[in-house]
Amino acid sequence: MIYCAHGIIKSHFSNKICNKHLVDVCKFKNYLNAKSTKYVSLESALSGAGDAFTIDDSTYAALEMAKILREYGHQVTVFINPYYVEYEVSYWFFLLSYLLDRNFCADICFEGKQYSCASCKEKNFVRKKLKDITSLLPTELDRYDYLENIFKLDLTNIKLPHYLRTFNKSDVLMLKKIGVDVQNHGWTHKQLVGSEFPEITNEISMAKNWLADELEITSYYYAVPFGENLPQDSYNFVDIKCWFLQRNDMAYGLVKENVYNRAIFVPNHVAISV
Ligand SMILES: [Zn+2]
Repeated sequence: MIYCAHGIIKSHFSNKICNKHLVDVCKFKNYLNAKSTKYVSLESALSGAGDAFTIDDSTYAALEMAKILREYGHQVTVFINPYYVEYEVSYWFFLLSYLLDRNFCADICFEGKQYSCASCKEKNFVRKKLKDITSLLPTELDRYDYLENIFKLDLTNIKLPHYLRTFNKSDVLMLKKIGVDVQNHGWTHKQLVGSEFPEITNEISMAKNWLADELEITSYYYAVPFGENLPQDSYNFVDIKCWFLQRNDMAYGLVKENVYNRAIFVPNHVAISV
């Protein structure tokens, strides 16, 4: 099995949107202490020689999780988005989660409708709706603009908590140095479904070129942003050895040739199965 995580956090609060998909650091260390086998490389896991562990997105939550895995002697792959690293900007969807958590708006208006953001359930609903719309916009500037218009503020002034901030180039070099496998998660985390061919090529090849130029890494693996949708023309990308999804509505494992559906990592559940 190949697992997918998004990083660790010191104190996990399940009612915080910002904590979604993150793992409590103590639980994670306890899990690793009890684990009798080591995670192997993606290549080994794909050939059936053990389980692999992958982490998506270029945040400090992801970086700290990768460091812990290396300290405990595991192989780990981090899928990064070089645009955010290169320009040292925050991911728009973490800013969105943060604004909702901080109760920035009691209600919010978009697409001609008014939405309440009072309860946790309502916030999650609004987040999903805004995420679906924003992720399809062509450029990162369009995505920032769209959210800035809705929230009526300059997103570049928002300071995210450290764990959600983007790590920098020297952090990526450090990850490579300690033996973390760094791979392609797209240039700007753009949703690929509904995108045209040149856009998709740019997303994949710009990240691939950045990894080659900055880190001297030849990346063969691509984790699809948002985990769900392959580009229609994935067969054109002959230099990608495997596409990684993360969908809960289909079986985990190899879906077809060169396409693998990863399971979300949950410490307790996995610990029971080993
Ligand atoms: Zn991602």
